[in-house]
Amino acid sequence: MWRRLTTLLLLLLATTVYASLNGCSKATVSPMIETPAPESTAITVEKTAAVPTDVQVDIYAEARNHLVEQGIIGYGIDDPLVIDAMRRTPRHLFVPEDYLDMAYENHPLPIGYGQTISQPYIVALMTQELGVGEGDRVLEIGTGSSYQAAVLAELGVEVYTIEIIGPLAEAASERLARLGYENVHTRHADGYFGWEEEAPFDAVIVTAAPDHVPQPLLFQLKIGGVMVIPVGPVGGYQELWRVMRVDEDNFSSISLGGVRFVPFTREIEDD
Ligand code: SAH
Repeated sequence: MWRRLTTLLLLLLATTVYASLNGCSKATVSPMIETPAPESTAITVEKTAAVPTDVQVDIYAEARNHLVEQGIIGYGIDDPLVIDAMRRTPRHLFVPEDYLDMAYENHPLPIGYGQTISQPYIVALMTQELGVGEGDRVLEIGTGSSYQAAVLAELGVEVYTIEIIGPLAEAASERLARLGYENVHTRHADGYFGWEEEAPFDAVIVTAAPDHVPQPLLFQLKIGGVMVIPVGPVGGYQELWRVMRVDEDNFSSISLGGVRFVPFTREIEDD
């Protein structure tokens, strides 16, 4: 119990958005710093592992709606389609059983192998910044739990997602199939090189932080396509960028503020 609390506290400190002085939009205010103490806002749901899945969804609906109202709309996400997708995606089915009761709190949680499922607000923010919808094709680097991929799938997007850690890639692929997300395609590889055979994409989302923007990803964007990517030093804070491919060779970028993501690694792990 105490070990779990300590792990979470460390995670909270390490992975939440921090206030950026010169970021240019919504991410300039730290949602976590503004979050009142969990006792006053979070609806804590007891573990319900023995309850069948369809009933569980109903049990968690209130907590999920509360998160969407407070932590998504309350922090400035205003795209109704993104808000609906966040309302529909059952985050409790993407977190390890040990953390079920925290599935709808607005912070990252451990998913094993030193990785995390992202903070819901950040998932919503990045999704909104991609500006994608029904029928668009999106490449995601860093499948992790596959929660972000599922949120995109709920928008009607065709998702191509790559994960470098074998067991996470496998678990994600099984989970997505079990939950019926047929419009998500998974691959176990180093995402640095993108997914050439399926390019070009309307958007690219990177959910681990490299120290530079991988060039192959830029050139797998359609003209007018958008990439959302955290860039910065390993272990430090990074800047979240929205990059647009203006034409064949030119890109424009704006900073969305400071964030902290797990590192973008280059070594493919099989087990
Ligand atoms: N989008 C995820 C967040 C996962 S954390 C979710 O919704 O849960 C980031 C993930 O990126 C980790 O699982 C990590 O293993 C993966 N990753 C890091 N470097 C990578 C690379 N070069 N290629 C593909 N995946 C990578």
